[in-house]
Amino acid sequence: MSILLHVCCGPCLVYPARVLEGEGTDFTCYFFNPNIHPYREFKKRLTSFIDLADSRNYNYIIDRDYGLKMFLRQVVFNEEQRCRFCYEMRLGNAATLAVEKGFSGFSTTLLYSTYQNHSLIRKQAARAAELHSIPFLYHDFRVGWQQGIDESKACNLYRQSYCGCLFSEQERYDNRLKKQLKRKMKSDVQPPRSGHDQPK
Ligand code: SF4
Repeated sequence: MSILLHVCCGPCLVYPARVLEGEGTDFTCYFFNPNIHPYREFKKRLTSFIDLADSRNYNYIIDRDYGLKMFLRQVVFNEEQRCRFCYEMRLGNAATLAVEKGFSGFSTTLLYSTYQNHSLIRKQAARAAELHSIPFLYHDFRVGWQQGIDESKACNLYRQSYCGCLFSEQERYDNRLKKQLKRKMKSDVQPPRSGHDQPK
């Protein structure tokens, strides 16, 4: 099987790549993340991904465009639903490209993070798979959370501390907002809290 693996960042690639290599699945990485803001952060995460991929000889395809406008046009006035749009955008693009390039399936490193909305990612991936008639390769990569952290630290990879969008950056650092959100969203589906170095 040869799949297109959507990659959200270097640290989240470490463990999934090990799993895919271990099971003999051939993969090509695809960096497409219009959700990462601001521009300097986007460049940092992209560079860290390239460093890792080059050091391990992974094949990759990169969308270098900084997709701020594309992202904002999708989520403005829908801020509460932004993660759904964000997953839909990234997984939809991965599925489209996988079909175009003749891969036999697609997957994503988003399934690695314990901070992401795993069930929503799975749902959006299934939707993209159906829409584009291409299989989605599911793995619960979260089981390797600590292994991925240890390895990414050993490689000195840049480890971000918030999810990606400007909204998540504010939620990460604005203590007053964090308290408000905690109260408001107790019964709702919470957006991802964060990055790799956020206290659990
Ligand atoms: S919090 Fe993360 S998953 Fe949600 S919209 Fe922002 S970048 Fe995307």
